Amino acid sequence: MQVIKLENSPYDANAYLVEGTVLVDVGMDGRAVISELEKHIQLKRLETIILTHCHYDHSGGAGYVAEATGAKIAIHKDDAPLLNNAIASASRLFGESAPSILPDIILSGGEVFGKLEVIHTPGHTPGGICLYDAESKTLFSGDTVFQDGSFGRTDLYGGNAAQLIESIKKLSLLDVSVMYPGHGDIVTNANEQIKLSLLMASQYSGI
Ligand SMILES: [Zn+2]
Ligand SMILES: [Zn+2]
Repeated sequence: MQVIKLENSPYDANAYLVEGTVLVDVGMDGRAVISELEKHIQLKRLETIILTHCHYDHSGGAGYVAEATGAKIAIHKDDAPLLNNAIASASRLFGESAPSILPDIILSGGEVFGKLEVIHTPGHTPGGICLYDAESKTLFSGDTVFQDGSFGRTDLYGGNAAQLIESIKKLSLLDVSVMYPGHGDIVTNANEQIKLSLLMASQYSGI
């Protein structure tokens, strides 16, 4: 699976160009993302922008990128209503007013984009998703799990620690060799790391 991590600011979530046609998360600066995309593809080749969840550091530039490329925006049904809310999207935390992003595709889990299957993983937000390709054992983990056994915070709007642990359990049953998280570095011993995240999240929450 061809994955390119786009260059962006440390405040932005990671944005990944997958197989030249799918963008997994965007970051906040749509203009910067477009100039990054132009280094790799013709803009019109981009088909889908999949948002792992509603948070502004992942989604803020999505409207701009969709308009510039013609790509469709996909997000889970439980996060779609939160996307343009200043508190639920956390845009206020970034000093920005509520964005105005129009999703085209509403997900509920189980959908497939190319080789990527949508897995609903609530906990960090109600409609958080991960994307998994079983063939290449690749996982895009959004803000559900990160490197070194870390995991998504559950103290923001709609967060739920018990749900997060169930979601990490779900991920721990997958066979993953490479994991692309929403923040931080790409993880290559992902099976072990996800199990560590599950342990850490369970201890932290006392669940
Ligand atoms: Zn994030
Ligand atoms: Zn988040």
